[in-house]
Amino acid sequence: MEHQTMTFMGGWSYELAAHELAHQWFGDKVTCATWQDLWLNEGFATYLSGLCYEFLAPQYWPGWTRAQVDDIVSLPDGSLRVSDTTDIARLFSSRLTYRKGAMVLHMLRWVCGDSAFFAGCRNYLNDPDLAYGSAYTADLQAHLEAASGKDLDGFMDDWYTGEGFPTYTVEWTQDANGLVMLQLDQSTSHASVDFFELPVPIRFKNGSQDQLVVLDHTSNGQLFSIQLPFQADSALFDPDTWLISGQNLVLRVPVLAFGQDRAVLYPNPADGDAILYLGNSVQDPVRLRIMDQSGRLVREQDVVVADRRIPLRTAELSGGAYTVEVTGAGVALRTVLIKQ
Ligand SMILES: [Zn+2]
Repeated sequence: MEHQTMTFMGGWSYELAAHELAHQWFGDKVTCATWQDLWLNEGFATYLSGLCYEFLAPQYWPGWTRAQVDDIVSLPDGSLRVSDTTDIARLFSSRLTYRKGAMVLHMLRWVCGDSAFFAGCRNYLNDPDLAYGSAYTADLQAHLEAASGKDLDGFMDDWYTGEGFPTYTVEWTQDANGLVMLQLDQSTSHASVDFFELPVPIRFKNGSQDQLVVLDHTSNGQLFSIQLPFQADSALFDPDTWLISGQNLVLRVPVLAFGQDRAVLYPNPADGDAILYLGNSVQDPVRLRIMDQSGRLVREQDVVVADRRIPLRTAELSGGAYTVEVTGAGVALRTVLIKQ
């Protein structure tokens, strides 16, 4: 609990002291105008306690951001905006008003860039219409927009009014010349937002080199090509935790079939287990059929597609060429398998 120039605390901890001190600016110098805007007090105070780690005790910063996100995504719903301001439990929800508030500020910093974000926050605190008075959420948005030159309506619709968060699937492959092809998809945890438009950071690395790339994600199925100066052995999704996102999946695929009506076998020729990669996202079971060169059906089974992959046993097949066909669930794909 804090009052101008004075903090009352029921205990002593680094974070609590930082949080209450931050309220001297965010809460006391500029007070939330309505209970709807409570996150301006508590989100900022929580974020500033995190920033104390980032700038004064950086060894604790990655764990702090991760812990905020883990708590926020522990449930699929909840907006920063408080629809029922008589609901005290919701008003002071640590998951939403405090932690989501803090991480939405962190994402605003990521979207606006450090210099514009911090300039916008200083302008907000020093605005003569707000200082030693009160502010609405729209006042903060206006200052961040003025400092960054960005329109933040879409962001605020998704992250202040909307509920939930995205969970990403990254599929990537790299050719011998270093060119990475990547498809980025997201699902959302709540129907109030059908797509979160965000800059998405991915770090490619190998044992001695790494490179961070930022992908401007505007639609599902979006394809990116990225020229790297090295062969990557892994890709890390949002390695510095800028985003609120769920249990993301990064898949390195040996061949590209993304977004196409195409099925690709790897390895091919095959002499043991192979994987059939589908270009289409398929949720339902599909019918897998394998025909030999004379058109004779040698295998037919229903298979479940996981992450666009169908495992294919070839051990029982004798050497030669086969047609592999996948039908059902809205797809009809064919490819050729060479059994060694
Ligand atoms: Zn507080």
